[in-house]
Amino acid sequence: MTDTMARVASETDMTFEFPQQLFIDGAWTDAAAGDRFDVTNPATGAVLAQIADGRRDDARRALDVAVATQQAWADTPPRERSEILRRAYELILEHADELAMLITLEMGKPLADARGEVSYGAEFFRWFAEEAVRVGGDHTLSGDGKTRIIVTREPVGPCVVVTPWNFPLAMGTRKIGPALAAGCTVVFKPAEQTPLTALYLAHILSLAGLPDGVVNVVTTTTPAEVVGYWLDSGQARKLSFTGSTEVGRILLAQASKHVMRTSMELGGNAPFIVCSDADIDTAVEGAITAKMRNMGEACTAANRLYVHADVVEEFTRRFAERMAALRLGPGWEDGVQVGPLIDADALRKVESLVRDAVERGARVATGGESPSEGLLYPPTVLADVSPDCELASTEIFGPVAPVFTFTDDDEAVRRANDTEWGLVAYIFTRDIDRAFRLAGRLEVGMVGINTGLVSNPAGPFGGVKSSGIGREGGRWGIDEYLEYKYLAIPRR
Ligand code: ADP
Repeated sequence: MTDTMARVASETDMTFEFPQQLFIDGAWTDAAAGDRFDVTNPATGAVLAQIADGRRDDARRALDVAVATQQAWADTPPRERSEILRRAYELILEHADELAMLITLEMGKPLADARGEVSYGAEFFRWFAEEAVRVGGDHTLSGDGKTRIIVTREPVGPCVVVTPWNFPLAMGTRKIGPALAAGCTVVFKPAEQTPLTALYLAHILSLAGLPDGVVNVVTTTTPAEVVGYWLDSGQARKLSFTGSTEVGRILLAQASKHVMRTSMELGGNAPFIVCSDADIDTAVEGAITAKMRNMGEACTAANRLYVHADVVEEFTRRFAERMAALRLGPGWEDGVQVGPLIDADALRKVESLVRDAVERGARVATGGESPSEGLLYPPTVLADVSPDCELASTEIFGPVAPVFTFTDDDEAVRRANDTEWGLVAYIFTRDIDRAFRLAGRLEVGMVGINTGLVSNPAGPFGGVKSSGIGREGGRWGIDEYLEYKYLAIPRR
């Protein structure tokens, strides 16, 4: 590797190199102003790297290149685009150890989860390598038979991609995969907490033979300046964002200036409904998955558990036992299942939500007290939670599961829908008709039935209401990066 890659011995035994500069026009480059910022390890507080801190000038440079490269990339044969994505998929798997370790070191999740993210993230490239050669069109006749209507599908144009810290690899590949497959170029701004994985992904794309300038990465501590420039420029045609609803609203307003296409994956407040006829083993396992994947730091995390009064005692007891048995620690240590939260604000928020619930009468079934040091918070189950506590209307983003009790399905649906969000819901029942009935009435984009995991590269991920606009993944994912063009030809 070149001297643009730093060689870093981490807290672990692994030593490897990873890029620490901006990636623009196929080259690693310092920020124009020469600024750098620290990336820290949430498990120890230690500085992992000091990386380039891009500003407006760097944003301009990156977007100019993406715009200049757009036509050539759109004209690149689909099979060539497909094979680059396929190679990138294989390279991600070849570099799975480095990527998983970077994810664990900068984000905190246990290594096993990070490996899971690497497989999940890689799969978007394999999936969209397959989609790249299947973008079709249409041909029909007008009603009077006098006009041929030919419909082509064309890349939307240069895309602004903005991602959060909780899935540093997969949130990037879920957007960049379909963008590249469709023939769009990209300017990519990863989260400031987790830029190392994103830069490594750019390294992999470059190894895979992606032409210079097709994907450009600007890491920064001033996201509003960088992304604001891109959205204001009128040159980018599409915004794909995953993050908080609060920031999503700001970006939607900015994107409205040039009426950009948008894909927005925002917050969630997922209800997890356990019916009286549920298989309790399945429900407990589902709750562990839906709550504890990523330490609860996922927009799909079960945020409100609604459990039927007939089974609430048994479910809560067994779920609390499983939660209490999970092992906390730094993510790279063997056997650790729960890593640190991302930062001190996240920890304070979780502590304050638990305090509020307990003050309003909740009983702590397990957890509830953070250790005195670091950013670890124990898996926590709260029983008898009052519906008016803050937990019920806030995205917790931590390993805390509040259990509410219900007595009939109508009540469960009404309470589940009583939120501004609508990303995902989980239903546990042995009755398939009941599952379909409930799923049909829940105001969400995705429903897990007897499972705590819906994320799948083959499925359309996305929500309704304040959870967002658009779908990512599956055969639907590429639509977000394509426009229709209709050609009218008189039939003579
Ligand atoms: P989270 O709460 O998960 O950190 P955010 O919505 O704050 O979610 O962040 C998601 C992404 O949005 C990150 O890449 C972050 O840098 C970026 N971001 C935050 N604020 C802004 C902003 N005002 N303009 C553009 N991007 C932003």
